[in-house]
Amino acid sequence: MTVASSSSEIIYADNSATTKLDEDALELMIDLQKNFFANPSSAYKLSRPLKKILKESREKIAACINAEPQEIFFTSGGTESDNWAIKSSVLANLNERPNIITSAVEHKAILNSCAALERLGCSVTKLPVNKFGTVNPDDLHEKILPQTKIISVMLANNEVGTIQPIKSLAEIAHTAGKIFHTDAVQAVGHIPVDVKLLGADMLSASAHKFNAPKGTGFLYIREGLKLLPYLDGGTQEFSRRAGTENVPAIAAMAFALEKNCRDMERNSEKISACAKILLDRLRNNNVDFILNGGEIRLPGHLSLSFKNYDGETLLHRLDLKNICVSTGSACNSRQVKISHVLKALAVPKDYIRGTIRITFGKENSYDDAEIIGKNLLEILMPR
Ligand code: PLP
Repeated sequence: MTVASSSSEIIYADNSATTKLDEDALELMIDLQKNFFANPSSAYKLSRPLKKILKESREKIAACINAEPQEIFFTSGGTESDNWAIKSSVLANLNERPNIITSAVEHKAILNSCAALERLGCSVTKLPVNKFGTVNPDDLHEKILPQTKIISVMLANNEVGTIQPIKSLAEIAHTAGKIFHTDAVQAVGHIPVDVKLLGADMLSASAHKFNAPKGTGFLYIREGLKLLPYLDGGTQEFSRRAGTENVPAIAAMAFALEKNCRDMERNSEKISACAKILLDRLRNNNVDFILNGGEIRLPGHLSLSFKNYDGETLLHRLDLKNICVSTGSACNSRQVKISHVLKALAVPKDYIRGTIRITFGKENSYDDAEIIGKNLLEILMPR
């Protein structure tokens, strides 16, 4: 996908960070902002269309993940959904010093929610992963404690794209009588997600990862599951998540998710082909790199570790060529911090610092993949 910048065109290949807002979803949002300003909770007829839009959006989203409409709770995005699932599962039982089981490769929205609860006296168990980033269900089986209140393992990893064996993990959790949550922020709208097949009790999603607006998302909560509200206040969201709903953004989220799910196979084939073009180019030129994340990965998701290279430098040099990717490390002025995910995968020492993440999206073209490949080669193998 090329986007106009002030000076020239940019190739955007960082779709795991965020995606471009779908044009039709944007039109819908603008129309609703302009023409339907009433509060959906009000009693007069001006509010009726907004109530209807909320209801229909909930139905559309539920259908996309095989849930029931009353199991969908609108939130401000993935971070809030994750915080709600984790914190509300243990807050009612803090005096029992609850245990939370998660994995070593979760997003910070999960890991820092766990860290906050650790400070309140909870214990946290982090399951290890193999070199592909996959959790072994047997490890979960061994780690469950009587005081474990929730088990949370992400469906697809944001850094390396690994897809976890959620069905097996959920089964183990349920056999032990425990609640199972999955952070599906990178998966929803990109790979088939069926809450009944997965067996998740809760599932987090974020709109801006599937071509819908930022600041919106949802938490699926299986009907019958008792979970404290995270935001207290009014009676919105069946009295479980207070706050006046952002109806235009919610409607745009439902629209974009329906569209992505309808076009999923086609999009997935295209972005997988983009990834293959790029990989072939690197391999045909004998570039020394590791493709992280194994075979069972998100389509179009490439975490590449280049031997004896610096990912930060690579990012900036690609940026100079108007190509947006991200790194596997976070930099401050003094030091480069290697990501907890790459560490958990035990990426070899001489490769780990040279990691970049290239994530293709439905707006990318085969030409984008060719251009990224050509520029990467020029940087990595100067003549
Ligand atoms: N979980 C995962 C796996 C993510 O990739 C992200 C965002 O990058 C989040 C949670 C947080 O989502 P949001 O940006 O909607 O708060």
